[in-house]
Amino acid sequence: MKFDKNRYKVYTWKNGMMLHWVLNPGVVINDLILGQKVSKIILEDKTIDKPRIERTFIPCPHCETIHDARTWSLQNGTILKNWFGLYCKSCGKTIPCMNNGLSLIILAVTFPIWGWFKNSLKAKWLAKQPERYKNIELELSKNPFGKKTWIKTGLGYGAIMFLIMSIGFPYFEDHEITLKSLTVGIVVWTIFGLIFGYTMKSYMSKRGDKVDKNVTE
Ligand SMILES: [Zn+2]
Repeated sequence: MKFDKNRYKVYTWKNGMMLHWVLNPGVVINDLILGQKVSKIILEDKTIDKPRIERTFIPCPHCETIHDARTWSLQNGTILKNWFGLYCKSCGKTIPCMNNGLSLIILAVTFPIWGWFKNSLKAKWLAKQPERYKNIELELSKNPFGKKTWIKTGLGYGAIMFLIMSIGFPYFEDHEITLKSLTVGIVVWTIFGLIFGYTMKSYMSKRGDKVDKNVTE
């Protein structure tokens, strides 16, 4: 699928944020358990004078429909449970998504268990999808990293990372969990969460480049 390079900036796994989805072992929770997915290709329209979250698009390689990325959002109830990929409501197929490294390893090791059911699971999942996308409202999909929400979202992300990195991993790897390691964890992940939230806020609210130059604020 070809894209108008003058209009769209094309993001693939080579982009830092997308690479994070592949490399961060914590993402395995989002990926395998929650079914939160990131498309392999994300487009950013450079020409629209709106915050980035409103000019981010996801193309379907099967029917070439360019979907507003907010089709898959918390508000629409479509951000999770996308285990088999992002469902395209135009053609009924799934848009290929990025694979987290640890997820791939876990899937490969457990393949003998779930491999048998893969096709029937996917068929069942696919059958449920049209209903989920019947009443998608893009305007409802507010930016989780908006002016008032980035702190909450950032701290929430920090809390999840704390649970995984300071409790989950040490527990399974048989490392000692002490008051000191927990305190350090809380401090580190709180700061990390806030930086993450703020970075995402700045990122998501960035307006189109071409328009920026003409606007004096
Ligand atoms: Zn499609």
